[in-house]
Amino acid sequence: MSVQGSDRDHDRLQRLLSPRSVAVIGASTRPESVGRAVFANILLGDYQGIVYPVNPKAKSILGVRAYPSVLEIPDEVDLAVVIVPARAVPQVLEECGAKGVPAAVVISAGFKEIGPEGAALERQVQEIAQKHGIALVGPNCLGLINTAPDVKLNATFARSTPPPGTIAFVSQSGAVGVAALEYAESEHIGLSKFISVGNKAVLHENHLLKALADDPHTDVILLYLEDLEDPKGFIELAREITGELPQKKPILAIKSGRTREGARAAASHTGALAGSDEVYDSLFHQCGVLRVETLEELFEYAQALALQPAPRGDRVAIVTNAGGPGIMATDACVRRGLRLAPLSDETKRKLREGLPPTASVQNPIDLIGDADERRYAHALKLVLNDETVDAVIVICTPQMMANLEAIARTVAEAARSQREKPVLACFMALEELGETLQILERAKIPNYRFPEAAARALAEMAQYTAWVHRPRTPVRTFEVDREAALTVIQKAQREGRRFLPEPEAHAVLRAYGFPVLRGELATGEEEAVRIAQGIGYPVVLKVVSPQIVHKFDVGGVKLNLKDEAEVRAAYREILGRVREHRTDAEIWGVFVQEFVPGGLETILGLKRDPHFGPLLMFGLGGVYVEVLKDVTFRIAPIRELGAYRMIKQIRAHKLLEGFRGQPPRDVPAIAECLLRLSQLATELEAIEELDVNPLMVFEQGRGARVVDARILLQG
Ligand code: ADP
Ligand code: MG
Repeated sequence: MSVQGSDRDHDRLQRLLSPRSVAVIGASTRPESVGRAVFANILLGDYQGIVYPVNPKAKSILGVRAYPSVLEIPDEVDLAVVIVPARAVPQVLEECGAKGVPAAVVISAGFKEIGPEGAALERQVQEIAQKHGIALVGPNCLGLINTAPDVKLNATFARSTPPPGTIAFVSQSGAVGVAALEYAESEHIGLSKFISVGNKAVLHENHLLKALADDPHTDVILLYLEDLEDPKGFIELAREITGELPQKKPILAIKSGRTREGARAAASHTGALAGSDEVYDSLFHQCGVLRVETLEELFEYAQALALQPAPRGDRVAIVTNAGGPGIMATDACVRRGLRLAPLSDETKRKLREGLPPTASVQNPIDLIGDADERRYAHALKLVLNDETVDAVIVICTPQMMANLEAIARTVAEAARSQREKPVLACFMALEELGETLQILERAKIPNYRFPEAAARALAEMAQYTAWVHRPRTPVRTFEVDREAALTVIQKAQREGRRFLPEPEAHAVLRAYGFPVLRGELATGEEEAVRIAQGIGYPVVLKVVSPQIVHKFDVGGVKLNLKDEAEVRAAYREILGRVREHRTDAEIWGVFVQEFVPGGLETILGLKRDPHFGPLLMFGLGGVYVEVLKDVTFRIAPIRELGAYRMIKQIRAHKLLEGFRGQPPRDVPAIAECLLRLSQLATELEAIEELDVNPLMVFEQGRGARVVDARILLQG
């Protein structure tokens, strides 16, 4: 099935998720069996359609007449839920195909996850599903749930059924799925749909994302992923869903495990770093998916996004009856990039009028320990009407005189009085909260046990808002000399070389309009001196050899040479050292280059990844890149805003903004280089890996220079 999807695909997904009839193939009466658990869940879960147990050995299951085969069912079947042993699955699916069943969930295990034999069986399953056009989830999965009032299907073997709600959950792990369902049930978190995708033999996350994007019952989509089947498709789809559709929906994801190792001895830093988890981080950034680490966070954020309106900005008002938690919330907000709303003078004046003199009318607003519901009402009304406030966190610690229920009711009313600013609650009592929590729950106000959790959730909401309202920039195309770049590449290919040393790499980059530092190859000492004089002192000398990838490490770089004598000495020293260390190396000569002090060293990279496609990299450069690993990735092509976001995403981005007397750096110059690299990545397919390291970045307005570059061609 393609993700773009025909009407037929769409219809099949519809039947999969909202079937009007279900055949449970492998339904069983045996206690403790999966076949019994699934059937019982459907039956006892008040399923609104018709359910048919299929079992050749039983006349009835739990009092419902059983059929020996799906072919014997007299009516149409929308969905087959399959729980028979693995080796019987192909036969069962053939029968489903013959009956024209459009969708199936194969819960049975014993496929790809057990080894080559299982993998072969899984390929068979895949082929049969494709032959009959069956929309198939699994195998090796927990099943699916749809809580919509006209469906009410729990086709899983999990013990718990979450209450209905507007959050959809797609899980690649059955066990994580079980944990999530239990958690959702115990915390009263409402789900619209739950789908366990298992081995993803046919349908994968992209298909389900597409279906959930159209689902009127779903407002927030949660993903638990271990890998992505089609990263490029995922990015396109997720971008649409999170930011472009009329009905936008936030997507939150946990991505765990199976990090690919960049272990092979890579010819470039980009190659070595691209196997790391940062690629996923960047990929999610690129399409507006909010990445989280734990299930707890996943639901905390999802609740906020599902229950409350998204804030318009990042300015928070904190209303509390205790100082400590107010300060903790403030710290957590600031740490997560939120700002404390300044509050208008009028708000402060009116606050003062209704509060005791010891109260603080500065944000965080401290109503003092003996605050009752009237004080909360007064403060909430004012901050919700204040133009400088985008969101509110209400903290209530249990004090002797506080009537928590009355305060909860007040918060509920204040939140309900408007639908523009989110209100998150933090009632910090763990016991004796029953009724209070229910009041908040009914009012759709997410409650957090600790202030940091509320702050985190709000920060996530603000981040989503920022993504939705980000300025959209077009893909830019620069005028470049592609022919000149190809000439250099083809020469190397003719000579049977994959590695392009510095002078050649520079020529390619120059053809693509990069600001490449002046430099020229010298094949003898006299020539080196002549070039140095042409460029003007001071200069740099570097060895050029197709076998030497890291020149500095072999003593092949001499910096800041101030006159002819120094150039001559450096020339001899470089050749001497390199010949000594690398007797195998064929030496083309020495590169004479302008010396540029005082720049900040950054790295730009390109790596064509078989799974992700052309990856662009940016980070802090120099000789320590692989130690610091402070890099970000994007899949090309990128747009202007994407380039800026990529730059901002590195941990050390503060260095670019200027600090301790250091000037702010020319970030637009870096962004332009990244955009040119993006174009190069799409137009020069022969390039497999490319490092610009360093790209020296100067103060704002002074640009950036490509100092060193290397290119590896496709093998
Ligand atoms: P390699 O990466 O192969 O070891 P480079 O050309 O990147 O060789 O040189 C190593 C380091 O020397 C650079 O990271 C940079 O700090 C410094 N350097 C090289 N060329 C220049 C130059 N023209 N101006 C200033 N510093 C330079
Ligand atoms: Mg270098």
